Amino acid sequence: MTEKKAVIILFGGSGDLAKRKLYPALFQLFVRGDLQEHFAVIGTARRPWSDEYYQEIVTAAVTNLPQATTKQVKAFASHFYYQSHDVTDSAHYVTLKTLAEKLDKQYDIGGNRIYYMAMAPEFFGVIAGHIKSENLLTPDGFNRLVIEKPFGHDHASAKELNDSISATFDENQIYRIDHYLGKEMVQGILALRFGNQILEPLWSKDYIDNIQITLAEAVGVEERAGYYESSGALRDMVQNHIMQLMAYLTMEKPDTFSPEVVHKVKDALFSSLHRYTPEEAAQNFIRAQYVSADVNGQTVNGYRQEDGVAEDSMTETFVAGKLLLDTPRWEGTPIYLRTGKRLTRKSTQVTVTFKPVANNIFATDGEPAAPNRLTIYVEPTQGYRLEINGKTLGQTFALSQESLDFRHDDASVAKAPEAYERLLLDVLRGDQTNFTRWAELDQSWQYVDVIRQAWDATKAMPTYAAGTMGPQASMDLLTDSGRDWAFKPTHIKLAD
Ligand code: NAD
Repeated sequence: MTEKKAVIILFGGSGDLAKRKLYPALFQLFVRGDLQEHFAVIGTARRPWSDEYYQEIVTAAVTNLPQATTKQVKAFASHFYYQSHDVTDSAHYVTLKTLAEKLDKQYDIGGNRIYYMAMAPEFFGVIAGHIKSENLLTPDGFNRLVIEKPFGHDHASAKELNDSISATFDENQIYRIDHYLGKEMVQGILALRFGNQILEPLWSKDYIDNIQITLAEAVGVEERAGYYESSGALRDMVQNHIMQLMAYLTMEKPDTFSPEVVHKVKDALFSSLHRYTPEEAAQNFIRAQYVSADVNGQTVNGYRQEDGVAEDSMTETFVAGKLLLDTPRWEGTPIYLRTGKRLTRKSTQVTVTFKPVANNIFATDGEPAAPNRLTIYVEPTQGYRLEINGKTLGQTFALSQESLDFRHDDASVAKAPEAYERLLLDVLRGDQTNFTRWAELDQSWQYVDVIRQAWDATKAMPTYAAGTMGPQASMDLLTDSGRDWAFKPTHIKLAD
């Protein structure tokens, strides 16, 4: 294993993301040997912490990980340094530069820098601007910017943000995180599609009837109301995670698995999104908000009763929609998507329903054969299920539907790298495959802005009872064309 070298400057080093995700991910890279001696992390935030105190924070964030030994944790934490920093104060960048240069020499790093923005998005442009004006970029080694979602809240703000970071960093230096792209089963979609002769030639409108993507959450808004009120399900889940899943499910096969080629086919896919007029968007995308219900003997709050939510909030907690692609491969094939909070149970899954065989010679009454269905379980369980038709046992040739089911076992899943670990290693390696590029965001924001506009033009906010899979309108989206959601859980499990 080759050790990666970098000074990582983490803006927002005292934050929730840093503690819950980034320190554990960096620690795993350290345990696996991707990071060894030649790295240093500078955590910045407003509070006046000492290096020692910061190292205690980092230690606390990783100490309970299964692989952690006291010796390793101590060695890991010794690479962390703290710099009290106000992002708007130019003088602080000068201090930061001096510290980064000192650590670069001390750890013999050779000028590699990663700037990780784990802060509120309104600061991203300011920080990028100062990185340039105060000359933090190194002439030798690499300079890479890692930027968290949300990337804007509509097309105009995303473009403004992109322009501001692009003034300092080139596109090939920008790593926009969508942590879904770091998930094992999301990357696994590509393996499944392009690694199987029984699937690859069938992956088109000729053989596939529809694709369904569900990102169901069982939890409510929890303590994130402040953020969620100004976001809603469309911005929080559809514009990013669902669009990325959709792209991996539908893009053309790249000639090679290099970042440039993958992004080329992905960009082409996003350009082929069938754009709705606002009227069409209102028909094809529905929203709703959860209302109080008795679930498993317990009264669950409605969204408008949650702490921090306005009594007349118009923020949607559910979206379902039908998306179309204008490509020869997918012309007319509906891609249904659905996401929401307080649904029946937590699950992210994809169902690909194939067209039934044209002439079911086994049926006496002309009944069509059941369609083949492929389900990809992204989380919480990870695996695949293929439904195929077999012969019913006995003196008959009636078909019966059988399932070929595979799930990764818990022990293997626990050993596999977590999304942030995978993505941070990609940043260190300089592999942009699993990050989003501006061309995709440009298209996806324009696409969702029309939906938002259509919704904003009405005062209606449909509702659904907590613990259900959304409003009737989301069922009607499919039943109107004789289809149905494949994932219809009945057993309610509201705790994740
Ligand atoms: P947080 O509020 O917990 O942390 C924000 C950090 O920024 C803190 O370290 C704070 O000290 C620092 N900060 C704030 N204002 C500052 C200023 N003026 N100068 C210097 N430092 C300042 O936020 P978070 O939950 O860690 O989220 C960080 C980013 O990651 C956000 O963009 C968020 O949307 C994104 N994100 C977070 C999560 C998560 O699980 N927490 C998941 C996905 C994306």
